[in-house]
Amino acid sequence: MSKVISVCIPKGGVGKTTTAVNLAASLAVAEKKTLLIDVDPYGASAIALGFTSDKINASLAEVFAFTHSLKSAIHQTDLEYLDFVPSNIYSISTHDKFLKFTENRLILKNAIKEIENYYEYVIIDCPPLLKGISTNALVASDSILIPIKSGHFSLEAVDRLFNYFDWLKEIANPDLSIEGIILTMYEKDSKVTKISERELKIKYSKYLLNTFIPNTNLLNESTFYGKPLCLYKIDSEGAVAYLNLANEILQNNKKNKTELI
Ligand code: ADP
Ligand code: MG
Repeated sequence: MSKVISVCIPKGGVGKTTTAVNLAASLAVAEKKTLLIDVDPYGASAIALGFTSDKINASLAEVFAFTHSLKSAIHQTDLEYLDFVPSNIYSISTHDKFLKFTENRLILKNAIKEIENYYEYVIIDCPPLLKGISTNALVASDSILIPIKSGHFSLEAVDRLFNYFDWLKEIANPDLSIEGIILTMYEKDSKVTKISERELKIKYSKYLLNTFIPNTNLLNESTFYGKPLCLYKIDSEGAVAYLNLANEILQNNKKNKTELI
């Protein structure tokens, strides 16, 4: 069975897509069969992986319209262990029509059942909203990975996500857990980074992962080449950080499994 992790927080520009793409690629480098699903209508994951519209056959839009199965929307990537489902939501229907489909909270969960024996990890890139398709993603997930932009984070967005998490656990997904908080765009010696880290620790210290993602232009640059950073410059600081994040998540999940036995 797959472990399904949504990369989610109700804030844009904090590194959700960068984390989803580079974490999924790093899990694939570790030879874990991984599926990345883009549920953000803007489709930034597709760009980061070099999928232009002519390379996209079926997408999540058709899965939600019940014309295609999730399996038929799977695309192979340059990494042997990584597959991808693009969103392409704006291409076949108006956004309003799409939102109507997402009122059924179970569509993605049911769609993932079809493929859960093929993948060890399913990573979902969410839009910066806590309704509609994000609810679908969180109902389908085992856990939430929360990226927070160091130095400019919004405690309000983190609080909102945790309130939503409590509500979802109560009404729709009792087994949902927090995978962890990952600090992105981290600047080691910056004063604002230190202040915001201290504030975050007051309330959410137990969720903070050991890995942090440095602020490095290469993570931005590699998207212009349509590659995760590990395929662009594997020995760079950013690529190593995401490999470390994948490793930390793998170790934590190994630990949780042995605790259950
Ligand atoms: P979101 O999906 O939350 O909107 P993105 O992952 O698209 O955020 O990141 C927003 C912008 O910041 C993008 O231009 C991306 O390339 C850049 N970025 C993301 N992570 C880093 C990082 N660690 N260092 C430098 N730039 C980054
Ligand atoms: Mg994004």
